[in-house]
Amino acid sequence: MATRPLDRVRNLGIIAHIDAGKTTTTERFLYYSGKSHRIGEVHDGQAVMDFRDDERERGITISSAATTFYWNDCELNLIDTPGHVDFTAEVERSLRVLDGAVVIFDGVEGVEPQSETVWHQADRYEVPRLCFVNKLDRLGADYFRCVGQIRDVLGMVPVPIVVPAGQGEDLEGVLDLVAPALIVFDRESLGERYERRPVPAEHRRFVDEHRRRLIEELANQVESLAALYLEDRPIGEEDLRRALREGTLARSITPVLAGAALRNIGVQPVLDAVCRYLPSPLDAPPERGVDPSTGGTAERPPRPDAPFSAYVFKVVAGSATELCYARIYSGRLEAGMTAKNVRTGERERLRRILRVHAQQGAPVETAEAGDIVAFAGLKNCATGDTLADERHPILYEPIRFPDTVVSVSVEPKTTADRDKLAEVLRRILREDPTLHHAVDEDTGQTILSGMGELHLDIVKNRMIREFHVGANFGKPRVSYREAFAEPVSGRGEFDRLLGSQHLHAEIEIGVEPQPDRRKVEVVSRLREGELPGSAVPGVLESLASGAEGGGLYGFPLIRIRIVLLGARYAETGSAEIALNAAAAAALRDALRRGKVVILEPIMRLEIRTPEEYLGAIMKNLHGRRALVEDTRFVGSVIVVRGSVPLAEMFGYSTTLRSLSQGRAVFSLEPLDYRPVPDTLAATFSRRL
Ligand code: GDP
Ligand code: MG
Repeated sequence: MATRPLDRVRNLGIIAHIDAGKTTTTERFLYYSGKSHRIGEVHDGQAVMDFRDDERERGITISSAATTFYWNDCELNLIDTPGHVDFTAEVERSLRVLDGAVVIFDGVEGVEPQSETVWHQADRYEVPRLCFVNKLDRLGADYFRCVGQIRDVLGMVPVPIVVPAGQGEDLEGVLDLVAPALIVFDRESLGERYERRPVPAEHRRFVDEHRRRLIEELANQVESLAALYLEDRPIGEEDLRRALREGTLARSITPVLAGAALRNIGVQPVLDAVCRYLPSPLDAPPERGVDPSTGGTAERPPRPDAPFSAYVFKVVAGSATELCYARIYSGRLEAGMTAKNVRTGERERLRRILRVHAQQGAPVETAEAGDIVAFAGLKNCATGDTLADERHPILYEPIRFPDTVVSVSVEPKTTADRDKLAEVLRRILREDPTLHHAVDEDTGQTILSGMGELHLDIVKNRMIREFHVGANFGKPRVSYREAFAEPVSGRGEFDRLLGSQHLHAEIEIGVEPQPDRRKVEVVSRLREGELPGSAVPGVLESLASGAEGGGLYGFPLIRIRIVLLGARYAETGSAEIALNAAAAAALRDALRRGKVVILEPIMRLEIRTPEEYLGAIMKNLHGRRALVEDTRFVGSVIVVRGSVPLAEMFGYSTTLRSLSQGRAVFSLEPLDYRPVPDTLAATFSRRL
């Protein structure tokens, strides 16, 4: 790879609601830029970026594949992101390393529930965006309705810079408002050749009108243009481009473009806009992290001459090799250099640096700040790790993932499958930080938990198809939690003869409800000298892992603080074993004596439906303990918003399909945990 000015690099993501046309658009990006030699279509199962078998089958995009291509004098590092809400974590981790994004909307459906979710995630990561309103060839498509929704629903200032010439069947091309022209795309070459023509008479008024609005909106939002505008000075193409770039980077406006990717209309102007208006790594502020030697903050500027640092945002475990995708935030790297994994403290030799175009990785000798690369053959690297110059370590903040809400049991079919299952699980878990695994103490079964039914279904298919593990999977179940409703204390004692040693320890704890905290907090309030300092961490650890391992009903405890109040022990060689065991016993005692409640995951629910099915859908929701908060028209459909216990929503996609003849869509997102109703609580059995 030749070194190139960093200001020509775009680390780019495409984000959208499922089916808006992300894969279709990406295929054109790669084809027009010369990166691929044919256009793979989603409906043929041939798309380059969707390379896993299960993705092909489902026709949806699950994992983020990364690829590099060139457009004009720009290098684009593209990360494909999924649209399904079960995979928010995948979106999160790509947003973490992106500098800018193209958001794709379906010109008929407009702003859909998950476009909103992803939009707000991108807000959180302060990612500048462009919008592409796609599928304008479809019957019922309406570009300006979609622009209106971007304004009203997403709360953004949309600025159309490319608008459709005609709509639906009459879509003949697109109109450029910045440098006024009609752009038409040649069918023979699949849109690769296109022509800019003077705006024809029938579109002239339309273009003038919208260009005037473009200038007004920009003058409203961008100071440099406001000055020109107010002084009534002539405003040229370059002034508009400068203002569009300024406004986009500041996120005070979002440029909007139009097209129909499947018909090869309007895609190249999107690429032009990416290069013109989206940020380069240099436009990003220095990346902030922690200096592991002092615990204070540290930062790295996006420059090749700064110490090396990179953030691993994804690990992909193929059956042959494991790839760690990383964004290099600073410094320069040569193949064969060593770096420190700051989380583990281990040294890693970075032998193979890859640029990745779907499955065909091409090794390179160097990489530097702003690059997105994959490392092959690292010893031990997980999603969220920081790799850094050994002499100048820095630790970037890991991505925080939501709690798991659904679990499923897995059992090897034969003893021979057992080892294979363990090995495959280890790999998949390293790759997917939203997947958790535990062993049920009572049954010895392995329990996998994840973000939703679809998520676990995909994990299961991978294990069977890609890794050929012989295993039986149980039915997906809700992941419950437990908490304490009132403070309680607990005492535990351990007393046993071990060979010639008499082991004895007693532990006293208090447990307090912490409704506002997600996790378990464990603190010591022991008096000075009550325990040797070295024994305290072990006891606290024992309490924490006890809480995680499951409470009265076997579900992990959350929202509590456990306070270590007292400790006594016999000073023998193995006092620590006795103390840790006594701590575990103290927690069990508190569980038996306390008021334990079972919590269930409550999901945020959104349903979009044509009006005629609303009655049937509402009636059906009624039997599912759903709480409907809002029902309103958005465009031509009704949007129902509310919350519902996850336990009531298994298989809902089938139900909703039959209630609405396949016309309604829904999304579920984790919202909260709430106590289960008493009648339901009575059906769980106690372990203690
Ligand atoms: P993704 O889920 O966002 O990756 O969307 P896909 O690219 O898989 O597209 C979903 C479906 O919409 C596929 O059947 C595409 O062929 C179709 N599609 C994509 N773009 C267009 C378009 O511009 N016009 C029409 N009519 N269909 C499109
Ligand atoms: Mg796709």
